[in-house]
Amino acid sequence: MQKKINELSKLLKEAKNIIIVTHNNPDGDAIGSSLALFHYLNKINIKSTIITPNNHPSFLNWAPGIDELLIFEDNPKSAIKKIKESELIFTLDFNSLTRCGEIFNHLDMDKNFIMIDHHQNPESYAKIQFSEPSISSTCELVYNLIDGLGDKSIIDKKIASCLYLGMMTDTGCFQYNGVTSKTYEIISDLLKKKIDQSEIYNNVYNNSSESKLIVLGKALGSLKVLNNHNTSFMHLTKKDLLESNYQKGDSEGIVNYGLTLSNINFTAIFIEDIDQEDLIKISFRSKIDFPCNKFAEQYFQGGGHINAAGGKFIGSIKEAIELFKEKIKEFQV
Ligand code: 5GP
Ligand code: MN
Repeated sequence: MQKKINELSKLLKEAKNIIIVTHNNPDGDAIGSSLALFHYLNKINIKSTIITPNNHPSFLNWAPGIDELLIFEDNPKSAIKKIKESELIFTLDFNSLTRCGEIFNHLDMDKNFIMIDHHQNPESYAKIQFSEPSISSTCELVYNLIDGLGDKSIIDKKIASCLYLGMMTDTGCFQYNGVTSKTYEIISDLLKKKIDQSEIYNNVYNNSSESKLIVLGKALGSLKVLNNHNTSFMHLTKKDLLESNYQKGDSEGIVNYGLTLSNINFTAIFIEDIDQEDLIKISFRSKIDFPCNKFAEQYFQGGGHINAAGGKFIGSIKEAIELFKEKIKEFQV
């Protein structure tokens, strides 16, 4: 670890143009870790630019520095220019380059990449790879990195708030097993930096638009329970979304309701893509040791973590659900 950190330190000193790239449909951990790194680099007098493939959901609008993001989809010309000029490229919260969408097509693989990520099976594109699937969020990894660079003391309220954001959202508010005593030690340190954890919670979870609750209502109305397999699932059609005046991010977190039933260990939500015909996006969640990531990888071209994973299906939502019901029989849930 220290060898890698020394190598990073050297690269940081040499590089003039640094970009931080995160994944498509960035979530709290993607945005939190990118902003925390951006603010940290700023503090040590290193300028960088965060490039996201597309826009973030509105519940992240409060995050310190969010207006400085360069969103590829909205501003492709400036983003391509920054990508071309870059000498050092941080990739945060993903480990497979296709997950950064259109940005991928403009990356020069001869450049120096630094991966900071906690998903399984990393691709080998990075010169320095900080990949730790046992760590519950990329934000926790960024904290460890800042600590490793000897700069824990310069973490301020702004950096701490960004780190807390990703740690809170990726752990489902600290409920998953990936949360360790070390996670709480970090939280303890972030609290000392005077973060307002209640305000961050409210900003993220108690900040719904009316459309979000209408979408939730539609999803709950579709709930099906497979009692023999301790499994539940919901779905949202494109029609449901359009009728609800759906906004980006409205379906986030809904999948978790399927796990609130007793005796249910595995749940999924199937969502028809609003733009792309025949694309179904699926989120999986589980309790205890049911491997959502294996299920997503095997049948739905996806992956993720043991208790939270995602994937997709090309075809109709009915076919996706049929496949799900068929394959769940092969798993002991
Ligand atoms: P969500 O259900 O919130 O979209 O995603 C849950 C977790 O699964 C996240 O950690 C995310 O990184 C991962 N994930 C979601 N979609 C995909 C996908 O299409 N491919 C892979 N490999 N991981 C995914
Ligand atoms: Mn993450």
